[in-house]
Amino acid sequence: MRYKYHPPIVVQKLFNNFIWESSGNKILLTFDDGPTEAATLRILNFLRANKLKAVFFCVGNNIVLYPALAAKIIEGGHVIANHTMNHKLLTKMSREESIDEITPFNNLLKEKFNHNVKYFRPPHGRFNLRTNSILNELNMKCVMWNLLSFDYENNIEKVKYAIDKYLNENSIIVFHDSIKCSDIIEESLNYTIEQADKKGLKFGEPEDCLK
Ligand SMILES: [Zn+2]
Repeated sequence: MRYKYHPPIVVQKLFNNFIWESSGNKILLTFDDGPTEAATLRILNFLRANKLKAVFFCVGNNIVLYPALAAKIIEGGHVIANHTMNHKLLTKMSREESIDEITPFNNLLKEKFNHNVKYFRPPHGRFNLRTNSILNELNMKCVMWNLLSFDYENNIEKVKYAIDKYLNENSIIVFHDSIKCSDIIEESLNYTIEQADKKGLKFGEPEDCLK
């Protein structure tokens, strides 16, 4: 199944222990797939300039490649969350293989950065009952979204359309820390802030939005 802007309500009801929307009527920004040389620093600069905090759902092997960028995310007061070691589909793996994609990430963050990882987002948004049971065992919270920005299509008009249509007070927005959208990331974020201002919506900090 491929989700459009948000996963279907029936899936949200079945997996009601997952986080599907932001709490406290504040928008949460999330960035998937980094860190990357193409985008991480630009995103961090933007967030700093606008006094915003975000969750970065990083890929473990990108952290291994770019530990200095991961360190900068943490120094900026943002949250690093688990998006697996290799960004492979968990639904095509055994239980053991899935665990091997998840726990080494947490160990890496603890050992290298003393960062406790609490949140998880499955690659491509794909999960099953087994994923849920593993996350429960690991005491991790799965954070989905209700607004996919489509930034990875590298077309600002598509991002604007998504934001215009779906931005609301409990949005968890997915952007990407990736070369695919690095041309439009600042413009996408700027537009999101402008629209939030127009609608009188506020942005929240990760820990408050994920209660
Ligand atoms: Zn991803």
